[in-house]
Parts: sequence; structure tokens; C-alpha cells
Amino acid sequence: MKEILVKGGTAEAFEVRKGGKFKLTDVEGGQVADFVAFNRNDLKEKSSPGHTRISNRSLRLKTGDSIRSNLRHEMIRLLEETAGHHDILIVACDEQRYLVDYGVTDHRSCVNNFEQVLGRYGIDRWVLPDPVNFFQHTRIGDDGEIIQLPSINPGGSFVMMEALMDLVCAVSACPMDLNPIGGSNITDILVTLFD
Ligand SMILES: [Zn+2]
Repeated sequence: MKEILVKGGTAEAFEVRKGGKFKLTDVEGGQVADFVAFNRNDLKEKSSPGHTRISNRSLRLKTGDSIRSNLRHEMIRLLEETAGHHDILIVACDEQRYLVDYGVTDHRSCVNNFEQVLGRYGIDRWVLPDPVNFFQHTRIGDDGEIIQLPSINPGGSFVMMEALMDLVCAVSACPMDLNPIGGSNITDILVTLFD
């Protein structure tokens, strides 16, 4: 077993072998974890929220669901989750989000975080997929409106997953502290790797 602590507002990358299990834990609660995955043996294949939505026929992720790739293959299975809400609709935060929407420059972002930790694999922003936003609470209104709610999962909430192919993964403990989604308190995400 190996543990990787993703400090609040930063990201970490890690590899998981096919059949390996891994767990993301929201240590203190209320923290969103942006997540992307790539096929370790062909980095052009990557996690795809769009293919995941249609394959699961759902706008949400729950226990038993798979995260699909852009080639529609099953990449990851959710073995158990305790938060009850995970977003597969919203794009990752980037510099423009903070600049245009909040007038803030030099704010950390999930896109920058992913570039920093995935650069050693030759992965840059232009090939980053949209993320799976674990622990992010999004509701769809009756007229189809996207309602972003505060993340309400208690500390210790987790998602246990199984890799269905060799993976390169990255997790960003989203630094968004300017809207209620993750609240103003940006905290750590713990990654636990089991063999
Ligand atoms: Zn973010």
C-alpha cells in the first residue's frame, strides 16, 4: 500500500497497473478532486466524461459505474463511494476562469496543476480531457440548468476504484476558493494505492 497526499490547491500524478485498486479520500470534507486518467500504453486514450455519461446513461457517477475512455473502453470501475455526488459535466478551472469571472491573476488552477504533474509524460493542456470532478455537487434543474452547489461530503468520504487498464492518473485538489463549490477552505485529498 502506498499513500500520496495531494495538498489542497495542488496536484499529483501516479500510475496504477491493470487490476490495481486505488482510493481517493476527501480528508477534511467539502473538497473537490478533479481527476484525469490516460492509458499508460497509449496516452492518446484518455478518460472521457462524454463517453462515460452515455455509456452509463446518466449525468452522475455512482457505485458500479465505469469511467470510459475516448475510445469507449472501460478504464476504471467505481467499486464503492460514500459521497453520493460526483460531477461529470463541468470543465476544469484555468487561468481564464479566475481572470474573466473574478478579475484575479496568478491564481492556481487545475489545468496548470495537471500540466505541472503530467509534463513528464509529455501531456500538456492541449491534450487534457475534461475532468471527472469527484466530490463536486452539481444538480440539473427541471429546465436543464446546471446548478453548482457547495460540496457537502463529510471528512473521510472516499471513492474506491479499480483500474481496468494500465493507467497514468492525476488528481488536483481544486484550488477554487472564489465560489461556494469547494468553499473558501481548500484542503487535501489522499490517494491510496493498493496492489
Ligand atoms: Zn479546479
